[in-house]
Amino acid sequence: MTDLERKHDRTPVPKEWAYAPAPESRDVVSLDERYGHYVGGKWLEPSETYTTISPATEEPLAEVGQATPEEVEAAVAAARDAFENGWSGISAAERAKYLFRIARILQERSREFAVLESLNGGKPIKESRDVDLPLAAAHFFYYAGWADKLEYAFPNRRPRPVGVAGQIIPWNFPLLMLSWKIAPALAAGNTVVLKPAETTPLSALLFADVLRQAELPPGVVNIVTGDGRTGAALVKSEDVDKIAFTGSTDVGKAIQRELAGTGKKLTLELGGKAANIIFDDAALDQAVEGIVNGIYFNQGHVCCAGSRLLVQESIYEPVVEKLKRRLTTLRVGDPLDKNTDVGAINSEQQLEKIRELVESGEQEGAEIYQPPCRLPEKGYWFVPTVFTNVAQSYRIAQEEIFGPVLSVLTFRTPEEAVEKANNTPYGLSAGVWTEKGSRILWMAERLRAGVVWANTFNRFDPSSPFGGYKESGFGREGGRHGLEPYLRFDNEPSHD
Ligand code: ADP
Repeated sequence: MTDLERKHDRTPVPKEWAYAPAPESRDVVSLDERYGHYVGGKWLEPSETYTTISPATEEPLAEVGQATPEEVEAAVAAARDAFENGWSGISAAERAKYLFRIARILQERSREFAVLESLNGGKPIKESRDVDLPLAAAHFFYYAGWADKLEYAFPNRRPRPVGVAGQIIPWNFPLLMLSWKIAPALAAGNTVVLKPAETTPLSALLFADVLRQAELPPGVVNIVTGDGRTGAALVKSEDVDKIAFTGSTDVGKAIQRELAGTGKKLTLELGGKAANIIFDDAALDQAVEGIVNGIYFNQGHVCCAGSRLLVQESIYEPVVEKLKRRLTTLRVGDPLDKNTDVGAINSEQQLEKIRELVESGEQEGAEIYQPPCRLPEKGYWFVPTVFTNVAQSYRIAQEEIFGPVLSVLTFRTPEEAVEKANNTPYGLSAGVWTEKGSRILWMAERLRAGVVWANTFNRFDPSSPFGGYKESGFGREGGRHGLEPYLRFDNEPSHD
């Protein structure tokens, strides 16, 4: 074989070169058969339950509660009681100590949490181990540092806590989203009722044990599990002062309608359809890694995923070729295997949604590419997919798929890239790949996106604010900005 032939050789990697299985042990996690709601520092026996499963195997993992409006009210009452009778009165430095403790315990128990997160959510262990867990602990560390410095964060505005925060989170980063929500709320002196997503309740329930270890006063954090009905009851609860929601745009809009005129504070972190923009002077191999990370990280279950690839026309062919070749090397399978790159789709319902949108892409005329890939027989799986020949009007270029599906479009000039990137109802994130610093700044100024990554993608840091424009929501999480939604200031009217 000549060098040139070798370069273009597409024969699959021989079996003897494949990775040997490297499963992470499940023994580190011990699950109860049945969980209640964590209310006022105790387990409340649920009146209704459902079974939570592993999406990779469909194996039942545990029975968990489906909280009724009465159970939600009990949690809100516990949070109110803890707020009035203790938490809001203790010194800020004391509050910080609890947050530091929680951060350290999360670090100590990180392997256990990482395994549980992969088991219940389907995400690859290397991601839960290297991304979700370190970042979750980092958020508690970061906000612990702010707890006694609020006066400096907001000089002359005399910040005070809002009261009881109702927090509703999605299933894509269960523990990390919990940390994004709980850490700033507690640092600012609030108490919390948190509802994890119905498909991924287990890490939040294990987190209750971290709270016990940290000796957090009862009622400061309460956790109720259940589906959208439980979330809706929390939103409706009269005694909640603030709602923080991360999830789909439709539910976000419904919550905004529900809360309009009530005076309750609200932050919404909703969907996205981010453009990942590659200029012809970019380092292509790095950009291809960034494209892969942008859309296949966490099976594409990422609201800021780089799901629209905008490639400058002159480099379209090499980028698409390199990308397809890279796709053949992605290992799809057991989330608990340390070599797995792409795990299971979180639920049957989500798999259906991905399938439906992918079908629409084919019907509308886009060209589909999927690498050869053997999927496990049980569980919910989707092969990493690339669509080329995509028009901006296609559903796969407009709607959030929330799966491992990339739509490739092209552009000629920076102006066209901006026009196309902004041509969506969303505005959560964007990526720009170019060697020119001035172009990065030029683009970042014009992209209507809460976060713009330069020569990287899907990077998170607790000190960096995150949030959307347009239908991606409002309010920021992370950084000093992330404290603001959990505070009232003297010049602001109070809810009651
Ligand atoms: P996704 O489509 O990503 O599952 P959802 O918006 O349906 O996103 O879910 C995100 C979170 O919102 C979950 O915890 C879910 O249970 C909750 N939820 C769903 N419907 C409602 C609702 N009507 N009111 C409040 N929370 C809801």
